[in-house]
Amino acid sequence: MKIVLASANKGKIAEFQKLMPDDEVLAFSEILGQIEIDEDQDSFKGNAVKKARTIYDLLIERGIKDVIVISDDSGISVPVLNNAPGIYSARYAGLNASDKDNNEKLKSELNNLGLEKTPAFYTACIALVYKNEVYTVHGWMHGDVINKELGENGFGYDPMFIPTGFDKTLGELPSEVKKEFSHRSKALKLAIKVLEVIL
Ligand code: IMP
Repeated sequence: MKIVLASANKGKIAEFQKLMPDDEVLAFSEILGQIEIDEDQDSFKGNAVKKARTIYDLLIERGIKDVIVISDDSGISVPVLNNAPGIYSARYAGLNASDKDNNEKLKSELNNLGLEKTPAFYTACIALVYKNEVYTVHGWMHGDVINKELGENGFGYDPMFIPTGFDKTLGELPSEVKKEFSHRSKALKLAIKVLEVIL
């Protein structure tokens, strides 16, 4: 069975492929080319369902039927910033912002409040479409964000995020450590349980 990821984010695709080494995991663009899906819903779940549903329907139109589509909508929330950037994490510094731009924006928001470090958490909602039914699960990872970037590992906000129980950022920690307890890993473990029931 093919698993098609409804994501264009290279960091996420690489993480999913590592998390599911025994499955054939493809990015949707390998089958459908580039498609822009407007993430205009007001929750991680709304956006995850929209992405998975859109890609599933396009695959069915192309006659690709025996397929599981998985999407992930995720982001980081900082309580002292009213949980920003949250669902806007990918475009915190504006449309088409790079990870670097978004990190700069978060650093400047922390600096404006005179904060070197403050609690934060990542959320991932995974939506799964199989045989025209949609299933959703969530995972979270808690820790702190700091007002600087340390390390090159991971992607996105990882160089600014210190998970609870560690004294290094996800940019400094090996990817195997993040894989143990990340928001995406936790959500994916639940998604795999769903698959065990429905397949
Ligand atoms: P999405 O593709 O709309 O779900 O946006 C996800 C955004 O949230 C990414 O572009 C990152 O900025 C951020 N994000 C989500 N998960 C992670 C992670 O595991 N590490 C770092 N940043 C993440």
